[in-house]
Amino acid sequence: MQKRFYQPDAETMPVNEIKKLQEYKLIRQVRYVYEHVEYYRNLMDEKGVKPEDITCLEDISKLPFLSKNDLREAYPYGMLATDLKNCVRIHSTSGTTGKRVVAFYTQNDVDMWEDCCARAIVAAGGDKGDVVQVAYGYGLFTGGAGLHGGSHKVGCLTLPMSSGNTNRQIQFMMDLNASILCCTPSYAAYIGETLKEQGYKPGYNSLKAGIFGAEPWTEEMRHDIENSLGIKAYDIYGLTESSGPGVAFECCEQNGMHINEDHFYAEIIDPDTGEVLPEGSKGELVFTSLDKEAFPLIRYRTRDITVLTREKCSCGRTFIRMHKPMGRSDDMMIIRGVNVFPSQIEAVLLNKGYAPNYQILIDRVNNTDTFEIRVEMLPEDFSDKPQVITKKEKKIQSAMKEMLGINPVIRLVAPKSIARSEGKAVRVIDNRKKIGIHT
Ligand code: ADP
Ligand code: ZN
Repeated sequence: MQKRFYQPDAETMPVNEIKKLQEYKLIRQVRYVYEHVEYYRNLMDEKGVKPEDITCLEDISKLPFLSKNDLREAYPYGMLATDLKNCVRIHSTSGTTGKRVVAFYTQNDVDMWEDCCARAIVAAGGDKGDVVQVAYGYGLFTGGAGLHGGSHKVGCLTLPMSSGNTNRQIQFMMDLNASILCCTPSYAAYIGETLKEQGYKPGYNSLKAGIFGAEPWTEEMRHDIENSLGIKAYDIYGLTESSGPGVAFECCEQNGMHINEDHFYAEIIDPDTGEVLPEGSKGELVFTSLDKEAFPLIRYRTRDITVLTREKCSCGRTFIRMHKPMGRSDDMMIIRGVNVFPSQIEAVLLNKGYAPNYQILIDRVNNTDTFEIRVEMLPEDFSDKPQVITKKEKKIQSAMKEMLGINPVIRLVAPKSIARSEGKAVRVIDNRKKIGIHT
């Protein structure tokens, strides 16, 4: 019979027991961090809070937050909570939003992380006998190592492809009957596009599922990938600071990602005031690690905007779910005073039938923000009559106006003229940052 859970005792634990376990682990982890991390001890002392003040889960709100800046300030060893001799691995963030952060792992930390990834693989239908093609980057980036370790734990045959060399990816996918593909959603879309160009039709191979994450992607993008690859596409979330992918993962319902609550405690806060918001509110996701030894995090502000829900899930897992993150608070662009997320633009384009190949260009000319979206026209749209193209651009523009409230300039560009991504896609080029305008 198809395996449903990797660690059923944990994944289906009754909610009151999860909370009891979290409480016990929180008290233990706060004490551990206070004793071992001078940087965090100072933050707690400044706030006048001692480990003894934490006696239940609600007490967590007494503790100070940690931010990415704290981790950068403490670089490289300042947040290390154990002797370096006890560590077996280092990973580092992709540096999407600035200086990299390095994270350390003991063997127990690696095991816990790989268990989380194994849970995600089983939730996506993976089992012994599956061939898992890991096309996330290997190296300092956590994507490759995390899914690789998870795949081993489940007992799948692991294809450690790393990202890039798309023709070779496709050849191995076909020749070795890969059944589960793991990579960023933008790379999955690119592989799908390349397969189509090479004349393959969905269903041509043994691929049945994909586990895609490490960057924001919309439901529209999910449909696009599912159609082009002929699979079910599952979301996976994580960040280097909290170990890597696998902090949360989607089940067969594909309706929000279950957070591995036996290892992480999640809160949603108001990003401006820091106030903890009730379940169901939209806000910034904050994580506390409950088991980590080398690089524990207490109330780490992810800057990712999402919503948590405890609604019962038909898959049988009891872990709380997080919605697809709408992007990071720092992905948000303020253009002519209006807040715009790249995910809104992606949703409009894919709804209109365009492929997820676009680029957003922002600049400031004569004190006014300029806002242009370049979109690749579909090969079948190609026309040498400028008025036909203009009409299509106007259609996209009015849909954007409806979604965003402001009018971008739309430029349909030639097919294949926007660079494809093998890792995290770069969608926004904001030239205002170059001239020091705070955006
Ligand atoms: P960096 O912060 O330099 O990009 P990471 O590679 O650790 O470093 O990336 C973690 C971030 O990637 C998360 O904080 C989040 O913004 C984004 N991310 C990861 N998985 C997802 C996902 N499934 N959906 C949306 N965003 C994601
Ligand atoms: Zn579920």
